[in-house]
Amino acid sequence: MTRPVRVGGTVVGGDAFTVVAGPCAIESRDQFMTVARRVRDEGGAVLRGGIFKMRTDPHSFQGLGPEALAYADEVRRATGLPFVVEVAAIEQVEVLAPHADALQVGSRNMHNYYLLKELGHTRIPVLLKRGFAAELREWLLAAEYLVAGGNESIILCERGIRTFERETRNTLDLAGAVWARQRSPFPVLVDPSHATGRPELVTPMCLAAAAAGLDGVMVEVHPDNAAALSDGFQALTLEGFSNLTRALRPILAALNRSLSSVEQGIPHP
Ligand code: PEP
Ligand code: MN
Repeated sequence: MTRPVRVGGTVVGGDAFTVVAGPCAIESRDQFMTVARRVRDEGGAVLRGGIFKMRTDPHSFQGLGPEALAYADEVRRATGLPFVVEVAAIEQVEVLAPHADALQVGSRNMHNYYLLKELGHTRIPVLLKRGFAAELREWLLAAEYLVAGGNESIILCERGIRTFERETRNTLDLAGAVWARQRSPFPVLVDPSHATGRPELVTPMCLAAAAAGLDGVMVEVHPDNAAALSDGFQALTLEGFSNLTRALRPILAALNRSLSSVEQGIPHP
């Protein structure tokens, strides 16, 4: 049985299918607000948006850092949507926690056991991405670090693994995501934005995740891909996001499921 996880005003891992969406990184108040309004209006239940980014290239945009915290607060309040943000280092836990409903451990940090131990001692929901070269067993053991500390509010996210294939950024291990869903008590999402690196593959892979009985998806959305400071090449446009939820609804309805809803007026932690 899957253990549902409350994230602000919504629940991940219940009967409904959760769409987590937002820009790769928060770039400005207006960029985040524009994306967030579309996410809310079209059925998204959780907002994403990086503040401290984990970039491969040290000379690339690293996120706005603390400047983005006020934008996150304002957008979270204005839309009523819960917010998940990546925590890249132990010292960021206390900086980000008051501004977020869940903290994400990124692919590059799945093996950072001291960060996992730190999060295990909190009761903040954790969205744990699979390392891009991690075996399924290693991913579940990483989750065990959180459980060992007493934090059982865990959401797993398959975000693609590195293979020989170059046409897609990574290879979405859909079977691995279903395996994790069957073998563990945690809800499982897939992130086809990072898994494929191609916006035209994002909606088909989201539909596959829904058909496979997974708990939701995480997708990147940007109002102006060409101007994005990170991962613009893989982001859905605002219209692309609307098309995604429009395509998901009939698939979910055929399975007697629906998109997750968000209770309003839940006080932020
Ligand atoms: C992200 O979701 O912003 C991200 C960096 O993803 P990943 O850790 O899966 O590369
Ligand atoms: Mn990204």
